[in-house]
Amino acid sequence: MDALVKKYAKEGLWLEKVDVPVIGKRDVLVKMKKTAICGTDVHIYNWDEWSKATIPVPMTIGHEFVGEIVEVGEEVSDYKVGDTVSGEGHVVCGHCRNCLAGRRHLCENTQGIGVNRTGIFAEYAVIPMTNVWLVDGDIDEDIVSIFDPLGNAVHTALSFDLVGEDVLITGAGPIGMMAAAVAKHAGARYVVVTDVNDYRLGLAKELGATRIMNPMKEKLEDVMKELGMKEGFDVGLEMSGNASALNTMIENMSHGGKIAMLGIQGPDTRVDWNKIVFNGLHIKGIYGREMFETWYKMTAMIESGLDVSKVITHKMHYTKFQEGFDIMRTGKSGKVILEW
Ligand code: NAD
Ligand code: ZN
Repeated sequence: MDALVKKYAKEGLWLEKVDVPVIGKRDVLVKMKKTAICGTDVHIYNWDEWSKATIPVPMTIGHEFVGEIVEVGEEVSDYKVGDTVSGEGHVVCGHCRNCLAGRRHLCENTQGIGVNRTGIFAEYAVIPMTNVWLVDGDIDEDIVSIFDPLGNAVHTALSFDLVGEDVLITGAGPIGMMAAAVAKHAGARYVVVTDVNDYRLGLAKELGATRIMNPMKEKLEDVMKELGMKEGFDVGLEMSGNASALNTMIENMSHGGKIAMLGIQGPDTRVDWNKIVFNGLHIKGIYGREMFETWYKMTAMIESGLDVSKVITHKMHYTKFQEGFDIMRTGKSGKVILEW
């Protein structure tokens, strides 16, 4: 079968012939329909410092998907051939304290599909049954293929009460854009989204941001004044991984404000700790999605009208993957979907 493989320890990705994987007793075999390119896949493509330290070579990459089950292991009874499924990309150990307590997203032995173990950019992929998400409603398969990053947006946004609150989202990448839609759907009053990329800000606006702002051109204080905000943002969703965006957020939170941090900061990020202390801010780090509470929430929100379809800007056959990665690397895209 065809698979997109990180074959060499250098920039790039290679379309290769590999064996169809063999399933274990507690796995399912999924025939891919659609997969989406994640920022993580772009890091692996680029072969940056994080990838060099993390990714085994050669390995098939990818972790965002929708597909159909074509075979089930002998101990699998909850799923059957023909089921449409997506899946959680974090494979957890099942026996650490957090796993046993049902907080699987906090497992200390997590392995990432397409990061630490074989990924799903392939015609067929093996998924442990504990990672399967069954799609039993009538949800567009394009949207199901991006449940993983939508789950990041939902998990981050729903970390704190948003009803009637003013929300600042720094970073209008695919996850920040979707978080804007989620925050509005959940009942936020103003959702201000910042980015240095005007194309992406345009998409964030289409997805429901009240006000978009490019910090190279405008000041957040002026935007707050324009909206009639006096005391700062109630909730901050940091989705850029940028130090200056994080500091602007910390400076403009209301006292007692709450920040959920998804963006991955570089090693040199400095913040004014005393703003956090004296203003009584709450900061929560976010990793992945809650298994599977986030999956239930996002399904229910889509069924009750959450529309994130505009985040998908490009679709192409997997043989055109190079084009997909090139577009992602320009920053002039939302989600890019590869069809199998
Ligand atoms: P992305 O890289 O596509 O988006 C980040 C955006 O931030 C870009 O559009 C960029 O232009 C923007 N940005 C850069 N400087 C900025 C500034 N000064 N102010 C405002 N915006 C600025 O990433 P994504 O895929 O949308 O993911 C968002 C972040 O979350 C990334 O940092 C990613 O690494 C991280 N992430 C974390 C987890 C987790 O489990 N914690 C999971 C997925 C992604
Ligand atoms: Zn565990």
